[in-house]
Amino acid sequence: MAKRFKNKTALITGSSQGIGSACALRLAEEGADIILNGHKFDERGEKLIKQIKNLGRKAEFIEADMSKVKSVLKLMKSAVKIYGTLDILVNNAGLETKADFLDVTEEDYDLVMNTNLKGVFFATQAFAKYCKDNKRNGVVVNMSSVHEEIAFPHFAAYCVSKGGLKMLTRNLASELAPIGVRINNVAPGAISTPINKELLANKKQLKMVLQNIPLKRMGKVEEVAAVVAFLASDDAAYVTGSTYFVDGGLSYDYQEQ
Ligand code: NAD
Repeated sequence: MAKRFKNKTALITGSSQGIGSACALRLAEEGADIILNGHKFDERGEKLIKQIKNLGRKAEFIEADMSKVKSVLKLMKSAVKIYGTLDILVNNAGLETKADFLDVTEEDYDLVMNTNLKGVFFATQAFAKYCKDNKRNGVVVNMSSVHEEIAFPHFAAYCVSKGGLKMLTRNLASELAPIGVRINNVAPGAISTPINKELLANKKQLKMVLQNIPLKRMGKVEEVAAVVAFLASDDAAYVTGSTYFVDGGLSYDYQEQ
């Protein structure tokens, strides 16, 4: 595999499992030293660190709750110290809660918005300040969703958070270009990860979802990680402020269910 990230360091938030862990492995395979993150360090983080070290790269895990700005800022401070530099930030941590709009509580709303949008906002701000102060170029990749664009009934807060992420990226592309920071979104469709465990367990619903996807299958975490790696690399040196959809065509052929 090409070594596009030789001498580069990357922080991937929410990387104990799912898309985040695939991104960590992909960037490590291509030469990056990795900082993993999650609420808690557990056997999943331990296993990933071993896998990354087996690839000949360094790996550390920093616990932080990405829904709390204080915790986010502490993480960013530690992340730049660990290897002495930080080149790539993948804002991946995210969650969704299902509820009819009429039943959404303030608590649910805050949890989704604080994790999916506020945490990303302030992690990116800290990273951009670091890049500016140290005169270093940087790359940010945000894990958005097809729901930055298309409706998802019963997931209003999630859609609001990912819609906000779309505009954050468009806005920052312009503000951060002068300091050498590129920023893009990756928008997965239906990917096989623990976030979709209910869907994967419900054959009838899964069949309906697959009918809506032109490629007629769920996506794999590695297929998302491949696009993250492209956007984080110099191959995408002229790409900023964009969203790359990794959705088997879902967002162009979507019918509400
Ligand atoms: P996942 O639930 O498997 O993984 C998400 C990870 O983020 C988990 O390890 C979780 O512990 C972590 N996380 C959540 N809140 C956190 C917090 N406050 N602080 C630190 N870590 C936190 O989900 P996934 O499918 O891998 O999703 C990753 C990202 O991709 C999310 O932003 C999600 O919205 C987005 N996404 C996923 C899909 C999909 O179909 N799987 C589709 C579109 C977008």
